Amino acid sequence: MQDKNPHGDISVRYIKGVGPQKAQFFEKLGVGTVTDLFYYLPRCYEDRTRIVEVKDVEPGQPQAVIGTVLKTNLFRASTGTTIFEMAVGDEKRRVFAVWYNQPYMKKLFEVGQKIMLYGKVEVVKHLQITHPVFEILNEEDPGASLNIGRIVPVYPLTENLTQKYLRKISYQAIRSYSGGMKDRLPTRIRAKHKLVDSKFAIENIHFPCSFDNLEKAYKRLIFEEFFILQVVMALRRKKIRKKGIKHEAREGFLESFEKLFHFELTSEQKKCIGEIERDMSADKPMYRLLQGDVGSGKTACAMYALLLTAENQYQAALMVPTEILARQHFVTVSKTFMPLGLNVRLLINGMDQKSKETVKKEIASGEADIIIGTHSLIQKHVDYKDLGLVIIDEQHKFGVTQRKALRSKAKMPDTLIMTATPIPRSLALTIYGDMDISFLKEKPEGREPVVTYWAEEDRREAVYGFIRDEIAKGRQAFIVCPRVKEEASSDLKSVEEMYRHLQEDVFADFHLALVHGRMKPDAKKKVMEKFRDGKYDILIATTVIEVGVDIPNVTVMLVEHAERYGLSQLHQLRGRIGRGRHQSYCILIGEPKTEASYRRLTTMSETNDGFEIAEMDMDIRGPGEFLGTRQSGLPELKFGNIARDFKIMEEARLEAFTLVGEDPSLEDPHNSGIKESIAKI
Ligand code: ADP
Ligand code: MG
Repeated sequence: MQDKNPHGDISVRYIKGVGPQKAQFFEKLGVGTVTDLFYYLPRCYEDRTRIVEVKDVEPGQPQAVIGTVLKTNLFRASTGTTIFEMAVGDEKRRVFAVWYNQPYMKKLFEVGQKIMLYGKVEVVKHLQITHPVFEILNEEDPGASLNIGRIVPVYPLTENLTQKYLRKISYQAIRSYSGGMKDRLPTRIRAKHKLVDSKFAIENIHFPCSFDNLEKAYKRLIFEEFFILQVVMALRRKKIRKKGIKHEAREGFLESFEKLFHFELTSEQKKCIGEIERDMSADKPMYRLLQGDVGSGKTACAMYALLLTAENQYQAALMVPTEILARQHFVTVSKTFMPLGLNVRLLINGMDQKSKETVKKEIASGEADIIIGTHSLIQKHVDYKDLGLVIIDEQHKFGVTQRKALRSKAKMPDTLIMTATPIPRSLALTIYGDMDISFLKEKPEGREPVVTYWAEEDRREAVYGFIRDEIAKGRQAFIVCPRVKEEASSDLKSVEEMYRHLQEDVFADFHLALVHGRMKPDAKKKVMEKFRDGKYDILIATTVIEVGVDIPNVTVMLVEHAERYGLSQLHQLRGRIGRGRHQSYCILIGEPKTEASYRRLTTMSETNDGFEIAEMDMDIRGPGEFLGTRQSGLPELKFGNIARDFKIMEEARLEAFTLVGEDPSLEDPHNSGIKESIAKI
């Protein structure tokens, strides 16, 4: 009997030619079973279809050469290198295969053998291929070559496993086992989308008969991959959508909410509020992502959700990534809700111990209606009485576990996740495929888009002059510098040096202040408050101001070393200005050293549209980098490419959601393939 894992998959060690010892090496590649091996992809392919005889060899390019071994010679060069040389060909012409420091090669060949060589043919003294791929041809079965004479897979390798060996084993496995393979895709879906079956796909992904077949194989496997991913999303969504809290709005609730603001809500805000209300008043929990560019007015939407929760006698928590932002939201929310007599509380680390204890007690007893804070909200000893709503602002600053931690403080809370780093739709469907998504597109009226310039070092004096003029008009400015003093990189202007220099030499007649991440929260807070009150003209800052800071009187932002920042981060930074009535300007001083950084700076000066910038950013960096390491949750895709294969993903998603809708437990025998592959995830 063959060992099978719980899913009926056969261990690689039973493939002919593997065995327990080699199986360990396969393990290192993450290949434990035959199926793993099927899905262990070639890194690339080499087209070795054209085989030439020695007489037809064309020097200068890689080619497959067939011939007879005429002579072998092992010798030591004067440098000490051993050289094994083998002449292949006929009387008229010969090609020399040469190996350096591999004397054991001699043992493999005999004069008179028919062999194939593959490699680049060079003219040294004579025609030569150095370290060629070779294959000794089997007289009886010359067509069985896996290495030459076909499109050849090139696998990523580990120590102890060679290319040739892997090809052999992979071929063996396909020959012996691919016939009995269960197709993961239901036949109906395959037929509808004209996808090849899995046996064909696996065979051709490893040993394609043609590049056309290879493409068909790929398309099918890409579809399959997205399909499985989206079935998982659909199932997860089913699970979250159990019974939740109905947060209902009484008659006239929206109108009384609107009265709390000194501005009219935009139609986009109303649309999003409508979506939020529909979710919250349903008996299934809300699980919604609100995407809106910086300054689009997400806070007002969040406040609607907060108020609706309080209205229904539940607690609501709003978690943000920094203390500055927490305080700011706290001020806005408590001021706005003042007339309603709600108990709005702040919980952050920077508070003194006694106030923290008091707030925690109020959270536990249910006295606190709305709680705003940082990571403090998810600490162990913070217990909520009756948490009905969880909002996470600037979610890209949090990890998956932190988001989960907050949700786990309640039973089935309504959840609203907000982000000011718009994520391209393709990516959103991949990582937030289980959520509903609201887009907050336009910004409140009356705001001019920020004008952005990219300037090189030689324009610095002019830029300073410009800042001076703005301040003379009563405006304020941000100057953003890299982190606090970095030892090694002396040419970077650290925020502290910059502050001293600007205060003493450039803006001596103005009031400057400094804020950075290593300051005590209290000190930071004081500086921010004084700046907001107009006590300072210019704030020199690190990217701590990136998140959420809202001071409408600031009309200039100067970013030093702008080439060092990612597109999304620059856009985030820029979002700190352009928040008031006055025209604002963002000036990027930077010397791009790469094509990518050049594209970033030009894109910034060309567009203000966060969604467009997000697309570009993902294009430059790829989805993984775009999201950053903190935000995992990005599935590892073997075949698909989120940006390139977006259409396939949308098709797969539609099929997946339909399938889960019709057969939520995947009981239908037609769906057993998909059920099995999901059980393994
Ligand atoms: P973000 O989406 O970046 O969180 P905010 O919610 O902080 O944006 O809103 C940015 C600014 O716009 C705030 O000063 C806010 O008071 C203001 N604002 C929000 N909605 C409107 C509106 N409908 N009309 C005018 N100003 C608004
Ligand atoms: Mg915000």
